[in-house]
Amino acid sequence: MTKVVIIGAGHAGGTAAALLRQYGHEGPIVLAGEEPAAPYQRPPLSKAWLKGEADLEALLLRPEVFYAEHDIELRTGVTATAIDPAGKTVTFADGTVETWDALILATGSTARKLSIPGADRPDLLELRSLADAERLKAALGPGKRLAVVGGGYVGLEAAASARALGAEAVVIERMDRVLARVASETLSAFFTAHHRAHGVEVLTSADVVAFEDGGVRLGDGRLVAADAVLVGVGALANDALARAAGLACGNGVVVDEAARTSDPAIWAIGDMTFRPIPVHGGRRHRLESVPNALEQAKQAAAAITGRPAPTPEVPWFWSDQYEVKLQIAGLPDGADRQVVRGDVEGGAFAVFHLAGDRIVCVEAVNAPAEFMAGRQMISRGQAVDAVKLADRAVSMKEVAA
Ligand code: FAD
Repeated sequence: MTKVVIIGAGHAGGTAAALLRQYGHEGPIVLAGEEPAAPYQRPPLSKAWLKGEADLEALLLRPEVFYAEHDIELRTGVTATAIDPAGKTVTFADGTVETWDALILATGSTARKLSIPGADRPDLLELRSLADAERLKAALGPGKRLAVVGGGYVGLEAAASARALGAEAVVIERMDRVLARVASETLSAFFTAHHRAHGVEVLTSADVVAFEDGGVRLGDGRLVAADAVLVGVGALANDALARAAGLACGNGVVVDEAARTSDPAIWAIGDMTFRPIPVHGGRRHRLESVPNALEQAKQAAAAITGRPAPTPEVPWFWSDQYEVKLQIAGLPDGADRQVVRGDVEGGAFAVFHLAGDRIVCVEAVNAPAEFMAGRQMISRGQAVDAVKLADRAVSMKEVAA
């Protein structure tokens, strides 16, 4: 019977283990992760959990008993240190060795560190794991001031949650706008205004040059005072095991449409992969999102159990800040223009990115109908009338017809 070992018990790894059983895999499954907890969801760590609106039970992907009930050997607190594709083994830091017939790598990503003076200070915070989130939460509260270095999604969500907990927050972004790498200018401007309206100080074109006692030093000499500093400047793929084992890697571990690596007995899924996106012409991306982790878990579990490959999905992502629900589908690859629909100032709108007459990406703010229809049109590669698209009097149903 085929034995499957999964390294990394996060969103992708935990889902793959459950799907293998659901798809009828009868052989042994070992799910080994270095964190102390059973697989849990990370999105609430910067949102509901941080604000005290969700407890640990609510974070868990599945109740802890699920794994024993489904004959999945869950090993927590174990770090894989080497894989041997030829001998089909994985070695852990505690000296134990597991053999496998099929291996799934699901080690996620790690917060990127800045190389500036003070970057190794033990009081600096990052936000990837539950342990990180517990440290951050302990540093927040009325009268505290949080400096967030990096205006990406995680940083902005943490700033919004800090405000909800009564703390002051300042976001420091090096580029001339927040979300510069990942969103349109319309969206950046909207979120900047929204955070400012909620009392967050947003500094752009502000380069952090050192972490010091009492705050963060900027390139122009200013010291931004803070009681706590959260560094959220992106994440890097945890692909060291794969690289050391000689698997093909780019911006993460290179996989195909079935999440298979350059070794036919090894799969890789989730944040750590550099994967082709069929609905975007097969171009490779490294995506950091729950829907991506779920899609690739499905691909690997289907391939290992000999099921037909699942239908390729349009990549998507969400972010919650204050009462704003952002949903993004597709990627702006090759887009040559944008169409804005709805009321930006009123906080209900969508930005459509078009390549020629086809939608390749939609950013929807409190606009679920635009998100759903946009996602469908991206999936179908359907041509769209830009004039109708911009006109809110024309329903999305009619636009998509
Ligand atoms: P992870 O869930 O990170 O799991 C990887 C696991 O592997 C970790 O537990 C890690 O400790 C373990 N591991 C690493 N190396 C080893 C090793 N050598 N041996 C054993 N174990 C190892 N996505 C969204 O779509 N929407 C959101 O709103 C959203 N919000 C987020 C908010 C925060 C604060 C964070 C951190 C992420 C958020 N994401 C969001 C991203 C989403 O959580 C990730 O894309 C998803 O968790 C990826 O799943 P994964 O299994 O690839 O990685």
